Amino acid sequence: MGDYMIYLDYSATTPVSYDVLESYNKATRDYIGNPNSLHSLGVKSKALLNSATRQIAELLNILPSEIIYTSGATEANNLALIGYALRHKNRGNHIITTKLEHPSIYSILNYLETLGFQVSYVDNDSDGLIDLDDLRSLIRKETILVSICGVNSETGVRQPLKTIRQVIKKENSEVVFHSDLTQALGKISINLHDVDMASFSGHKIFGPKGIGLLYKNEKVELSPVIHGSSKSSPLRPGTPPLPLIVALSKAIRLSLMDLHKKEEYIRKLNEKIVNDLSHFPEIRFNKSKYSIPHILNISLMQIKPESFIHAMEEHEVYLSTNTACASGELSTAVMALYNDKVRALTSIRISISSITTVEEINRFLTFFHGEYQRFIKLGSRH
Ligand code: PMP
Repeated sequence: MGDYMIYLDYSATTPVSYDVLESYNKATRDYIGNPNSLHSLGVKSKALLNSATRQIAELLNILPSEIIYTSGATEANNLALIGYALRHKNRGNHIITTKLEHPSIYSILNYLETLGFQVSYVDNDSDGLIDLDDLRSLIRKETILVSICGVNSETGVRQPLKTIRQVIKKENSEVVFHSDLTQALGKISINLHDVDMASFSGHKIFGPKGIGLLYKNEKVELSPVIHGSSKSSPLRPGTPPLPLIVALSKAIRLSLMDLHKKEEYIRKLNEKIVNDLSHFPEIRFNKSKYSIPHILNISLMQIKPESFIHAMEEHEVYLSTNTACASGELSTAVMALYNDKVRALTSIRISISSITTVEEINRFLTFFHGEYQRFIKLGSRH
């Protein structure tokens, strides 16, 4: 990070850590062979690929064969949802999701609707937790898949995946449970045995952009979404991006180190911001006791969030409106929590990481105060 820059948009993306980039560079330089080639350079690359995959499997407590590399979480979500729907369409055409998903999930489900699938949206309570009774009542014999985000990218609300899984399986053990865990990995501890499939992305955990993975329990069958030479990875054909995969394994390992210590540190920074901004009576905190501390969502109410974010940018402070993927729109997650349009239209997201410093938060708060008071004086109405 630059000397002056205050980057508080870690949930949109993170900078690549030095060690991860070193792993990437080394694999690029020293392993030129295609892991699918039969000659010794290919064999050497294949061995490195296998060892990176074994390391990820160990870290996530899953089997190496349960890992499918993708370009990121968007592609992992596509493979999970479309791959499962196409493979099991003869069993049923009903899919359940929530109002707290990443926009990529909604785009995929809208597409599946054009293919004849039906989608139901489970209700959530005012804390953002999904309504288990509603979930139970939505599961029917045509239901094949439930997709529920582990941590919402806008408000940081964390769902109880284990309980959700129990409810689903008790109602219909054939229904498969997918969770987008992009915002959970490296932030909170996760147990992949609570889900059947899960999506991840490297660039949210100080890894490179362009790599992610889908965890798929070995019992779950999918159709490929991308077709090609299916020699070593039938569900995602093409030459494996070895340096990205090696970098991803390093990023996952680093992200899981001292997880609780990092979470506690981030919680303190989060509380510092909340305590300070609580002095402004108009500001609303879009959080519940289930929000993880890495994501702090607030609504400015009278102030246009885009203008405020650009004003903060003048001080080299980087924040986000909603998610980077849905800028300028009404926040679906804030709406799902409070059913308040102004609140949902004026929300901004402050996302913190373990490399955020107390000094950065102090400077952020100083700039925030200055700009907020200036905007209030100007009477900048939304
Ligand atoms: N899911 C969630 C919950 C996310 O936060 C993001 C990134 N904004 C994505 C999916 C998309 O990830 P990627 O950029 O790796 O495709």
